[in-house]
Amino acid sequence: MQFSEFSKICEQLEKISGRLDTIDMIASVLPSLDDDELPIFVRFLMGRIFPDWSQEKIGIGPNLVFESVAYVAGNNKSKVVKDINREGDAGTAVENILSKKEQTSFFTENPDLIEVYSDFKYLASIEGNRSQKEKLKVVRKLFANAGPLDGKYLSRLILGELRIGIGEGNIRDAIAKAFDVPAESVEHAYQAANDLGEIAAIAKKGEEELAKIRIELFRPVKMMLAKQGTIADMIEEQGAIAAEYKYDGTRFQFHKSGDLCRIYSRKLEEVTAAIPDIVEVLLKSTEHDIILDGEVIAVDDEGRPLPFQNVLRRFRRKHDVASHMENVRLVPNLFDILYLDGETLIEKTFEERRVLLERNVMSFVAPQIVSDDIKFIEAFYRESLDAGHEGIMIKSLKSAYTPGQRVRQWIKIKPSVDTIDLAVVGAEWGEGKRAHLFGSFILACQDESERLLKISKVATGFSDEALAGIYDIMKDKVISESGKVVRFEPEIVFEIGYAEIQKSTNYEAGYALRFPRFIRFRDDKGIEEIETISSIGERFRAQSEKVR
Ligand code: AMP
Repeated sequence: MQFSEFSKICEQLEKISGRLDTIDMIASVLPSLDDDELPIFVRFLMGRIFPDWSQEKIGIGPNLVFESVAYVAGNNKSKVVKDINREGDAGTAVENILSKKEQTSFFTENPDLIEVYSDFKYLASIEGNRSQKEKLKVVRKLFANAGPLDGKYLSRLILGELRIGIGEGNIRDAIAKAFDVPAESVEHAYQAANDLGEIAAIAKKGEEELAKIRIELFRPVKMMLAKQGTIADMIEEQGAIAAEYKYDGTRFQFHKSGDLCRIYSRKLEEVTAAIPDIVEVLLKSTEHDIILDGEVIAVDDEGRPLPFQNVLRRFRRKHDVASHMENVRLVPNLFDILYLDGETLIEKTFEERRVLLERNVMSFVAPQIVSDDIKFIEAFYRESLDAGHEGIMIKSLKSAYTPGQRVRQWIKIKPSVDTIDLAVVGAEWGEGKRAHLFGSFILACQDESERLLKISKVATGFSDEALAGIYDIMKDKVISESGKVVRFEPEIVFEIGYAEIQKSTNYEAGYALRFPRFIRFRDDKGIEEIETISSIGERFRAQSEKVR
C-alpha cells in the first residue's frame, strides 16, 4: 500500500463518527494488505509506529518536523510555526504549507508503507553526536516525497498523535470482522503478544493460529491495573479475597531466561541498567525462566518504606548508578507471576498463580492473607499503614491476569485524597475518541505577587460530558498552540484531588501533585483565589510530619 493511500483512508476515517462505520471501513481494507504491510498499517492507524512492547523510539520532536517542512516548502521555520499556531493543529498546517510548495523539484517518489516504516526504523537506530543532522536528512526526505495530505498524516504520525480516533477496541473488532475470528480471541492474543499489528497478521491465518499466541520473554506485557472500591463490597461480591500491602513505589516486570534478565517499568521501558542491585537479588531468587510482576520500594536503614520519589530517582538514573545505589536502598516485592518455563500463566486464576509464585520464587514474595472477614482485612489495612505503606490491595482469587486493564478484580484501599484549587493555564489535546477535545490540563498555583507557577497536569477524573463542557468554555481562551499543547488565558479554576505533594524540579512551583484528579470546575472562584505557593509548602510539611 502506498503511503498516499493510507493518508486517504485516514482522511475518510476522520470524517466517520460512528463506531460501527469505523470498524466496517477498517475491516474492508485489512484483507487487501499483505503480511508485511498488515502490522504497519494497523499500528499506523492507531498513531503508533512500533509494537507496544518495543523499546524503539523515533525520537523526533516538533522542531525537527517544522524545520523539515519549512525546508521542503521553501519557507523559514518561524513561518511554519506561526501557521501551526494559527491552525491549532500541526497536521492541517503542514497540509496547507505543502499544498503551496513548488512541486516540481521535490515530489519524486511515492513511498509505500514498508518504505516509510523502514525510514522510521532507521530513525530509531540513529545515535550519537551527528544524530540530529542525520535525522533531519531522513525526515526531510520523507516530507519531500509527501503530497499535502500525506504530509498531514506523516507529521501527525511522527509527532505521535494521529487524531483520527482509532483506539484498540476499534482495531480489535475490525480485525475480528475482517478475518472472521471472534473478537475475544483477538483480545486474548493481544494481551499476550502486546502488538495488535502482529495480531492482525496472525488473525489472517485463522483462529487456531491466534490461539497459539503465548507470552514471550523480553517482550513486556502491559500491567494489570486496579480500581477504587471498598473491602465490604468486595467481600460481599467475592466471599474470601486476598489482601496484600499496597507498596508505595514503582511497578516493574522482571523477565529472566537463564542468567539473562531484563526489568521493565510500568510504561514498559527497560530500566535494567539503572537498578543492578534489584537485578542481582532477583536473579538469585529463582532458578526458573520466569516473568514476575511487582513493586520496588525504597527503604531506610531499619527497612521502613521511604517516599516514592526515592524510587523514581533511581529508576530514571542513567549515570552514576553505583553511587546512587548506596544512597537509596531498593527492595522488590513480588505479587504475581505471568510466565514460567515456557508456559503462559495469565489465564490461570490468581489463586493458582499465587501457588506457582510461592513454589518457584524463594525470596521477596509479598505477604498475603486470604479471608472473608472484614474485621480481619481491616486490621491488616491498619497494620500496613502502621508499617508505612500506602494501604492495601484486595484481589479476587478467581481472576485471570488481564494486561493493561483497570478492573474490579483488583481494588486499592488507601486513605482518602486531599483537594486543592488551581488555575488552568494550558492543555493537551485528547486521544482516540477524545481527540477533538482537550484531554489533559496544565495547572498552576500562584506566588505572593500573583505570578502563576505551573505545578501539575491533570488527565483523570473527567467524564466525557465534563470534558465536552470544559472544551466549550476553554476553546475561546486559547492564546497559542504548539504541537499538541495549547496555552490558555488563565481564568478558570479547577478543584483537584491528589494523594501527595512532592518536591519536583519538573514544574516551576518546585512541587508536583501525585495522582492529581479532576474533582470539579470551580466557577464560583476567580484566579486570585487559587492556592499560593506558601500554603502548598505548608501542606507539604504537614504531610511529611504525618508520615513521620
Ligand atoms: P494506583 O497506582 O493507585 O492505581 O494503584 C495501583 C498500583 O499499586 C499498581 O500499579 C502497583 O504499582 C501498586 N501496587 C503496590 N502494591 C501492590 C500490590 N500488592 N499488588 C498490586 N499492585 C500494587
